[in-house]
Amino acid sequence: MSNLVSERRTCAVCCTSSEYRYPRCGTDGSGRSPALDEGPCAGERSTMDSWVETCPSCGYCADDIAPRQKVRAEVVSMVRSPRYQELLHRGGSVSLANRFLCEALLQEVSRRLADQAVALIRAAWAAESAGEADLARQCRSDAADLLLSRRPALQRFTKYLGSGSVVLIDLLRRADRIDEALREVDAALQRPFNFITEMLLAFERQLCERGDTAEHTEAEAFLALTGERSSWAPEPEYDTTTAAYLLSYCGEMLTPHESTALQAHKVRTLRGVMWNTGDAVALKLLEGGKDALLRAIEQRLLAEHPAHPAVNRCPRCGGLARTPQAKQCRHCGHSWRS
Ligand SMILES: [Zn+2]
Ligand SMILES: [Zn+2]
Repeated sequence: MSNLVSERRTCAVCCTSSEYRYPRCGTDGSGRSPALDEGPCAGERSTMDSWVETCPSCGYCADDIAPRQKVRAEVVSMVRSPRYQELLHRGGSVSLANRFLCEALLQEVSRRLADQAVALIRAAWAAESAGEADLARQCRSDAADLLLSRRPALQRFTKYLGSGSVVLIDLLRRADRIDEALREVDAALQRPFNFITEMLLAFERQLCERGDTAEHTEAEAFLALTGERSSWAPEPEYDTTTAAYLLSYCGEMLTPHESTALQAHKVRTLRGVMWNTGDAVALKLLEGGKDALLRAIEQRLLAEHPAHPAVNRCPRCGGLARTPQAKQCRHCGHSWRS
């Protein structure tokens, strides 16, 4: 892959300077739906190698081998221990899975349990990509045990409300611990969640009930439960120009609820079509539809700042100007320079 940049970095454990290569920017994610354990989609898998840096001299594995802060003494002695070095060279080569496992071990001695779980999950993906199914299952099982013993670590998964539960359940299912996964589904349904979580929990239950331990994606969950390929539902036409203007130029004057309401979309859920927000105030604002919301926001801004209207409209035709500073109407051509 040519889209790589390289950088010389100095290992915080042994002070050896080496060349590290990274993808140029972000990922080349193909837009495929992510796996239910938040695993990388096909396009992202090729960048996994850069998620854990490994010092070629001492074998220190970390997401950043040259951090600003000093590395803890426990980490240095663990890197130098036979246990760590055996794990790094497990199976005769320094595989990507081994590197993630070593990172997990260092997170463990640093007592960073959520990060340890993430490293174990990444080791599972790497093992899976390398065809090591047994190792992948073991990594998932270990990650699940860790999260079961320290439930606050589930908050590390913040994609949506309740996503930590979905990750835990997916780990249990994929580790062939189906009964425990089903118990977690029932327990998760007792806690607050949003409709995406509800849908994924229902899908996990279906998979568990048929003993399916394979990888599945969010998009599959959606298709299986609603029969639709896309979660977006059609919504009535509205003045998207004014909405974009308010978000671009008046963002700081909007309340968080107005901002959420303006950006909300209609989605299909198990309970029918809904706005994709759980914000009760935003939902109230959206009751009359997006156009009514836009008029209400504009009136509020105008009432609060009558001398310098944030929404710049043409004094002749009332059309919206391109920016707050514009002095010429793009609709009727009228100019109001003074
Ligand atoms: Zn080193
Ligand atoms: Zn005009």
